[in-house]
Amino acid sequence: MPTMNEITLHGIAAAPGIVMGRAFVYKKHIPRIEEKAIPPEDVKKEIERLRDAVSRSEKELQKILSFAEQKIGNSKAKIFEAQIMILNDAVLFGSIYKRIEKERKNAEFVVHGEIAKYQQLMLNSSDEYMRERAHDVEDIKNRIIRNIQEQKLISRFEGGSIVVSQSLTPADTILFSRNDILGYATDMGGVTSHTALLSRSLKIPAVVGLKEITSHAAPGDFMILDGYAGVTVINPAEETIANYKRRSREMAKFEHRLNELRDLPAVTADGKEIELSSNIEFAEEMRFTKSQGSHGVGLYRAEGLLIGRDTFPSEEEQYREYKSIAEKAFPNKVIMRTFDIGGDKVVSQSYEEENPFLGWRGIRVALDRPETFITQMRAMLRASTKKNIWVMFPMVSSLREVREAKELVSQAKASLRAEKHTFDDRLKIGVMIEVPSAAVLAGEIAKEVDFLSIGTNDLIQYLLAVDRGNDIVSQLYQEFEPAVLRTIRHIIKEAHRNKIPVGMCGEMAGEPVATVLLLGLGLDEFSVIPTVLPEIKKIIRSVTVKEAQKIAAKALTFSTFKEVKEFLVANLKRLSPDIPLPE
Ligand code: PEP
Ligand code: MG
Repeated sequence: MPTMNEITLHGIAAAPGIVMGRAFVYKKHIPRIEEKAIPPEDVKKEIERLRDAVSRSEKELQKILSFAEQKIGNSKAKIFEAQIMILNDAVLFGSIYKRIEKERKNAEFVVHGEIAKYQQLMLNSSDEYMRERAHDVEDIKNRIIRNIQEQKLISRFEGGSIVVSQSLTPADTILFSRNDILGYATDMGGVTSHTALLSRSLKIPAVVGLKEITSHAAPGDFMILDGYAGVTVINPAEETIANYKRRSREMAKFEHRLNELRDLPAVTADGKEIELSSNIEFAEEMRFTKSQGSHGVGLYRAEGLLIGRDTFPSEEEQYREYKSIAEKAFPNKVIMRTFDIGGDKVVSQSYEEENPFLGWRGIRVALDRPETFITQMRAMLRASTKKNIWVMFPMVSSLREVREAKELVSQAKASLRAEKHTFDDRLKIGVMIEVPSAAVLAGEIAKEVDFLSIGTNDLIQYLLAVDRGNDIVSQLYQEFEPAVLRTIRHIIKEAHRNKIPVGMCGEMAGEPVATVLLLGLGLDEFSVIPTVLPEIKKIIRSVTVKEAQKIAAKALTFSTFKEVKEFLVANLKRLSPDIPLPE
């Protein structure tokens, strides 16, 4: 029985692992800003004070940058370069210095006002990514003001605790990691938040988006953080502690056993080879995916290149990144997705849409901005000389889009040929099936391309009309809904009828309960987050194709997601009894 004051909060699983420890409730230093008049003779001194503070802030960030580069690699550490760029923004600081001179106000007051204007614009955005970035700007603002007020930075504290905070800036996340931190639990943040991305790279368990953990956890409270399931328990009862200790031991044992699987192929019990690859966003993730036994990359989300910047990277910069990923994956293949901008992702301008998920996204942006698309295609083609790059388009909803995008690919090839660049002339082109209209047209689309990849994250939200990020309806977002199963079956059938392979790169491909079903439906490739890869491999190895087909056929006869799930869980327990399932 849970005790009276045991509090369980559900958030978003951001980085795997189960930890237990005392809460370190981190309250950000919120600087007190008073408006002060500066006598004319002191204006120069005030400007100097600000210049010193900016240069101290830059030094701090340089230190964080080099520490981050060592710990998580150059491309992820770019967030800090972007922050340093704000410090060197001549327009922003030009107007700050001018206001101090003209209005004769104290530096922190003007800095606060000017940067807050920027930030407000970002916070008003309907785009989650932009709102996340507003916190980065907040970090810069507070850093400068702290330095103007000559306060010391506190980043060291007693190790062995779980950091509980409203939000964490990328700098906080990196600096805390030096103190033997057990985990991170934050009120805010989504899967795209930098706390999530960085904690995964740092291998520190994290749960974000807990909404109200800071109002429930007091400093020193004992708590459990489950980064697999996205749960935290404050003041857990003895029984809860024992349960989690058991689950943690099971997971550790299981992960250990999975190590033995690492070099074994992903084949079914009767010998059918399945392609098991991973989803990545940064070149640096290649090492980890390989160590997890991945056969290549089934989804490279190129938007990782856009983090922390508001202009598109040049062809050269993109080429270097794509080339590095292709080389690291060789001889395995990498499926690169062209930029999927909009929706919940990066936007190239602060453009407000009532319904961004139904708006200017993915291929729609690419076809409206052919120059940007051709630049990216040229970079991908130039990086394809080892012939292991495949390219796919996101958010396709019609045949017209497929044809227009292919025409732009031909233009990119022609321009490269004219410039005597070498590239893989037979580079495979595919389409993500993540919009219901594309699923309906899977057969027609399959005739136009070399492969399909099912993006269940979006497909489920559009098919069931359930916003994938809206908590109020999250119970309705169910991958085992009969309508979802039938749609997946249709897509796979149509791809095979047209003799092309079909993979899945949405989260469902990495859901252990779904593995046997998808195998039975004939899926050729599973592309999953690297942490779950060994578990999925184990399940694939536990079943024959014939048995998987029988299970899939039966699963399709149920009329509710509950029945489907119960049936699949029961079969999974029978086939792979040691797979730890969430409660
Ligand atoms: C998907 O929609 O399933 C997918 C893989 O793309 P993303 O999650 O990046 O939208
Ligand atoms: Mg998608």
